[in-house]
Amino acid sequence: MFSIHRDRPDTALNSQFDSLMEAAGDAVFRLNAETVILHASKRSGALIGSGVALIGQPLPALILSADHSVLEGAVTRALETTEPSKANVRFKTPNSALWIELQISSYPNARGETELLAVGRDISGQQATEERLRHMATHDALTGLPNRSLLSDRIRMAIAQSRRTGLGFAVVALDLDGFKKVNDALGHPVGDSLLRVAAMRLSDTLRDIDTLARVGGDEFVAVLAGAVSEGEIQAIARRMISAMQLPFDIQGHTLYVGTSIGAAIFPEHGDSEVKLLAHADTAMYRAKETGKARCVVYSNEKFTQPEHDVSMEAAMFQAVRDGEFLLNYQPIVDARSRQIMGFEALMRWSRPGLGMVPPTQFIPMAENNGLINLLGAWVLKAACMQIRQFQEVAGRPLYVSVNVSPRQFRNDQFLDIMDEAITLSGLNGQQLLLEITEGILMSDPEHAEALLTEMTARNVRIAIDDFGTGYSSLAYLKRFPIATLKIDRAFIKDLPASVKDAAICDVVLSLASHLKLSTVAEGVESEEQLQFLAKHGCGLIQGYLTGRPLLPEQVIELLKTAQSLPAPVHAPQ
Ligand code: C2E
Ligand code: CA
Ligand code: CA
Repeated sequence: MFSIHRDRPDTALNSQFDSLMEAAGDAVFRLNAETVILHASKRSGALIGSGVALIGQPLPALILSADHSVLEGAVTRALETTEPSKANVRFKTPNSALWIELQISSYPNARGETELLAVGRDISGQQATEERLRHMATHDALTGLPNRSLLSDRIRMAIAQSRRTGLGFAVVALDLDGFKKVNDALGHPVGDSLLRVAAMRLSDTLRDIDTLARVGGDEFVAVLAGAVSEGEIQAIARRMISAMQLPFDIQGHTLYVGTSIGAAIFPEHGDSEVKLLAHADTAMYRAKETGKARCVVYSNEKFTQPEHDVSMEAAMFQAVRDGEFLLNYQPIVDARSRQIMGFEALMRWSRPGLGMVPPTQFIPMAENNGLINLLGAWVLKAACMQIRQFQEVAGRPLYVSVNVSPRQFRNDQFLDIMDEAITLSGLNGQQLLLEITEGILMSDPEHAEALLTEMTARNVRIAIDDFGTGYSSLAYLKRFPIATLKIDRAFIKDLPASVKDAAICDVVLSLASHLKLSTVAEGVESEEQLQFLAKHGCGLIQGYLTGRPLLPEQVIELLKTAQSLPAPVHAPQ
């Protein structure tokens, strides 16, 4: 590289100096203090390829305007100090922009006037690599859209900016209706192409100042700058919905999907990234439930009715951060030997000053505000890890039963979370039992079938929770790979006195036996109930009689002192 000393060249050397510039083989410019080009080496003409006379042009005219301030800074530094200063700038070329590192020095010319020497080096390759790496870390490889991490930055920036300017913005969540069907029926390559085209169409409906990110399989989130009224949001949403309703021609198939959209506005519907995303998501599910191909804007009033719910909801977000949620474990025992076979993980919220909030109060709310996905992922991982410790104490394998809510089951990330829980804990798939309700299976049987197939492939078992309370048809028992029925407490409560309940339990147990399903009776509180159930072939018992939900330390105590509780009535077989 060419460098220059302030005391050279002397007054007679300007032309010699210029020939030296040629010899150096770099792109070299001699400029006056106003950055007008006095001389440019041949190499610079070749590099920039403009073919126009460079002499007499201001150097900034050759550079992308976005980089003018960088150049200006470097020139100022060169003029003020004796050190050469550097600037990475993009030169305009006929086809694209060229990254050049300029090293700029100032020196006095023959007449004592200050001149500048700018030596350029082509760093396009290096810059491109850095740019590519940065791009990869922040963008989705399939569609080229920003990914979740960049989205998160953009939302935080939008919040900071809104706080300064007082102008709000909207976060919009959307996913494609019917995408899974296409993906399952025609395969991933078709699904991927569809997503790429959908991403392009959606981008086209937005302005440059908006951000569109892909955050999961067929889930997208848009940040709409300055959109704060329902009217503005609905107008943009209509464009998105229309763009998705046009047929997609993908690899010889004409495909129809659609989109449902949910929106939340800053600051009305949430003052943090988490809340905005959760509320946009909630609104999107509402859009799906109420007919699809529409946009629902979140509303503080419509989505949480009683006043205490609002403060409870706020407290919940805080509680997730402060780790106020914990898990209890209720023993599930063999009906005959009374040996502990596994535990059901049951969530608790320990609110400082307010005691334990039962899950029946906060789970429906978490389901509504979207927090259940966060909580559910934590439960799954924590429970698997905990069982690992329990079985070390017990010295034999145990299983863990984890409740899965409808919204978790619909979440695209659910399989990944489950895989992570299994991998992290080192459990075998068969040691994990997921409890779902009949309603979850029947609300979207195609999705359920696909998901259950994936679970079966990992040996993870499925139990129908609260069996008998949800759905009248039993056809689904044939269709889905189900391992276990959990007979609801409602049928156990009045055993054995109630003739009807006794008949129902008898029928359910015999049905299960024919279908080779295992059975757990829930809410067993008395010895008589247990006797009846054991006699009629119920394999497992869960209830206050054989163990209340316990804290992990209590479970460890229990496993150390007694492996079966209470003393068996029948000798273990
Ligand atoms: P569930 O899945 O039917 O859980 C059994 C409920 O019955 C638990 O109430 C348990 O404490 C209670 N129970 C157990 N044995 C007896 C008994 O002998 N007598 C009586 N009266 N009750 C008994 P809990 O812990 O209050 O949980 C209520 C519901 O909350 C659960 O019903 C489940 O649907 C939901 N839930 C709890 N933890 C989670 C979770 O981590 N995720 C999700 N999605 N839901 C959860
Ligand atoms: Ca359960
Ligand atoms: Ca249950």
